[in-house]
Amino acid sequence: MKIQVVESVLKANDAVAAENRRRLTAAGVLAINVMGAPGSGKTLLLERTIPHLAPERCAVLVGDLQTTRDAERLGAVTPLVTQINTGTGCHLTAPQVTAGLDSLALDRVKYLFIENVGNMVCPAGFDLGEQRRVVLLSVTEGDDKVAKYPTLFQVADAILLTKVDLLGVLDGYRRERVYEDISRINSRAAVFEVAARTGQGMEPWLAWLRAQRSP
Ligand code: MG
Ligand code: ZN
Repeated sequence: MKIQVVESVLKANDAVAAENRRRLTAAGVLAINVMGAPGSGKTLLLERTIPHLAPERCAVLVGDLQTTRDAERLGAVTPLVTQINTGTGCHLTAPQVTAGLDSLALDRVKYLFIENVGNMVCPAGFDLGEQRRVVLLSVTEGDDKVAKYPTLFQVADAILLTKVDLLGVLDGYRRERVYEDISRINSRAAVFEVAARTGQGMEPWLAWLRAQRSP
């Protein structure tokens, strides 16, 4: 019985996600689901990414259980920001994104960043209707997380190793271990090393983003 309930929830989510994707594609919007643990640097990455694109054509839907703190931060780089508070929900769902889309003038948007709730598990299982999935993993989380949370990394079109400016103070971080795990779990993902704080490595990431709009 329990399994049937879970399956029907996912089926309903997927149907709404398909409708979101149809709507986004029709409006010429590239939607990117940005996932990663709390503190992996999702909001800072967007704060430092959007000014390099056309900020007035970038929109953000940002999911958190509580507070509008991330929306306030992102509001400094684009006016098109909607905070989605999930209450107790530990991931965004497609119907929440539909409500977010209703709040935006989609025909003005080129890039829609959907910052998911900080979580390394269930966001991977909930299609939101996005066209690309990006997963952040900060070096301060350790070199073992790709192997421990494979489902999240499996769905990624791009994986960003963040906070690489801190590598010098992390004893025993094995970068090659992370790359080995990525190539075993998802060899098609583009991998970038960035430090949004210093700007290190941002150009290849921005080039990848731009290429997704004009493949
Ligand atoms: Mg955030
Ligand atoms: Zn969840």
